[in-house]
Amino acid sequence: MDQLINADVVLYGILSLIILENALEIYISSRQVKVYKTTQTVPKELENVMNEETFHKARLYGLDREQFGIFKAILMDVMLLTLELYFGFIAFLWSKAELLAIRLTLDPSSEIIVSCLFLAIVSSISMVKDMPFKVYKTFVLEEKHGFNKQTARFFVIDQIKGFLVSQVISTPIVAAIIFIVQRGGEHFFIWLWLFTGIVSLVLLTIHPIFIAPLFDKYTPLEDGPLRESIENLAASLKFPLTKLYVVDGSKRSAHSNAYFYGLWGSKRIVLFDTLLLNKGKKDDSELKEEERGKGCTDEEVLAVLGHELGHWKLGHVTKNIVIIQVHLLLMFATFGYLFQYGPFYEAVGFEAGQRPILVGLLVVMTYVMAPYNALINFGMTMLSRKFEYEADAFAQKLGFSELLSKALIKLNLDNLGFPVYDWLYSSWNHSHPTLLQRMDRLKEIEEASKKTN
Ligand SMILES: [Zn+2]
Repeated sequence: MDQLINADVVLYGILSLIILENALEIYISSRQVKVYKTTQTVPKELENVMNEETFHKARLYGLDREQFGIFKAILMDVMLLTLELYFGFIAFLWSKAELLAIRLTLDPSSEIIVSCLFLAIVSSISMVKDMPFKVYKTFVLEEKHGFNKQTARFFVIDQIKGFLVSQVISTPIVAAIIFIVQRGGEHFFIWLWLFTGIVSLVLLTIHPIFIAPLFDKYTPLEDGPLRESIENLAASLKFPLTKLYVVDGSKRSAHSNAYFYGLWGSKRIVLFDTLLLNKGKKDDSELKEEERGKGCTDEEVLAVLGHELGHWKLGHVTKNIVIIQVHLLLMFATFGYLFQYGPFYEAVGFEAGQRPILVGLLVVMTYVMAPYNALINFGMTMLSRKFEYEADAFAQKLGFSELLSKALIKLNLDNLGFPVYDWLYSSWNHSHPTLLQRMDRLKEIEEASKKTN
């Protein structure tokens, strides 16, 4: 009897947390919706580079995206999820996984087998649930604003590939996790932590080599002045650059960027083709009409890389990995402490005594720890903005201040980024400071450094 009451308390607790968190998110988004609706003039700092037409295009694009996000959150994250939890959908799917095991003449009493089947069922269902939103976002929303470059065929193949690859990777990982929890003894959470740490390092290493090329085409950047100047910049910073690729990201979407990856002494840099429209050209007068003003000049690409290499030189990636590992250890320890508590399982529809490990992980780590996760996310977002400022300051020291500002403006215009944000929305959601904040800061440190010189 006590257990039953506790299960109700857990269920209503989880539902309240879900509703509270989404209400907060939706409130914050609606503040930005208001900004999109009421901001009618280009900010002074951008008057020379952003015309009225682009400004309003960006405004309407932002508005569409934000309203779509709110609609999806209300429908999926609040209504559907609440119903699923309330009516014990998770336990229902678990019983289907057991039946499926019998059908496939596998052992339904093996928790590892049932967990893998459960995972396959849950991911198939969530793929189906997400599909209408993905289709709408890609072929209606992004299409309307000129960003979608995917054909229906590319989209379907891409989705199927994505689903299969994630199943192939996650199934053995889930099986190993169940095994570790079952056999790991009292301090299994330490083994679990070591295991996920090693798996993420392995995935980080093989992802760019074996997985990413399944989805996009990576071609080495051709020899020429741009390649030479990037190699010189990398060499001057002792960045162990081994490969330099261009990815045809424009096939997926016209949003452009650059990044580096790789562990230890072997790093690769990837440039998006959309970044390079102006490659080798003095100015953009040689471009096609619709491409004019888009992409960066060689010098601007170099400034962007100055910023990226700043992330490397300042150890931002390593710092992030360390923080995430500490966070994971805390999560697993909490899980180890709480996961045998029966009401967590009864709350989501299981009978007393039935406590699947995978369900425990889901309930404890996503629902019970939701407030902690939200705080960590917020902290990580703040830290990420700090890192962005630091990488900008690094690029400034290399002499890229003005070029980086120019590149940031161009990237922002190419992506139809809206320059005005509600402060709360921005501090909650943005991993990067806004364009204006970054331009301001760059100008500030540039002037301060001129004074001291
Ligand atoms: Zn950055």
